[in-house]
Amino acid sequence: MQTSLKPAHPHGNSPAAEAEACIHVDDLQFTLRRSARRRTMQITVERTGELIVSAPPDVGIDQLREFVSEKRFWIYTKLAEKDRLQRQVPRKEFVDGEGFLYLGRSHRLKLVDDQGAPLKLVSGRFALRHDAKAGAREHFIRWYSERARVWLSGRVADYQSRMEVAPAGVKVQDLGYRWGSCGKGDWLYFHWKTILLPAGIAEYVVVHEIAHLHEPHHTPAFWLRVERAMPDYAQRRAWLAEHGMDVEGI
Ligand SMILES: [Zn+2]
Repeated sequence: MQTSLKPAHPHGNSPAAEAEACIHVDDLQFTLRRSARRRTMQITVERTGELIVSAPPDVGIDQLREFVSEKRFWIYTKLAEKDRLQRQVPRKEFVDGEGFLYLGRSHRLKLVDDQGAPLKLVSGRFALRHDAKAGAREHFIRWYSERARVWLSGRVADYQSRMEVAPAGVKVQDLGYRWGSCGKGDWLYFHWKTILLPAGIAEYVVVHEIAHLHEPHHTPAFWLRVERAMPDYAQRRAWLAEHGMDVEGI
């Protein structure tokens, strides 16, 4: 996670005296490390998020600032990436007692010997057949996807006439970091993880995607449509932004 660039005028500035110092550019703070062995300037984003700029001894402070300034977008991207990685929830283990979300509630897993389907939700518990343990993740994804398709289709039916659209239908798949998208032919796509969210939040995802059938972009007209269908959407949207990542990873 490093980037380097040769200084534009390697000998244009007078050498600065400090060996290690701090420089501030906007809201970013850098530790400056100078080394006689360096020929180029380089920015490093540490694991901790600390920012280090390494430079040859003779690079002036203005040149350093300019270099850092040019790299700002890259730095913000790296910092956001680290923040996301640190918040990532560890993968689930498919053992007795592990909790799995379904519409915002956590259900404990129980391994069972005899059962028709490999995975079932029985009286509030997920029951996974012992011999299906190796493919447990796939069984969960299949189970979630099927539940999501049925549940989300129901919510779409609730909202579509009110929101004056007639979507072709609902498709559930892995959408990476997106909860939903609306595609060609007025199909609504949802991530299977949407069914892990509390019902009220998943419902906001539905309303959001339906509104996109009218307005492809997040314009004021788009948000107005969302608000008309769901007056308290802002709270749900804020919840999703804050907690959404918690449902990542099974
Ligand atoms: Zn959107």
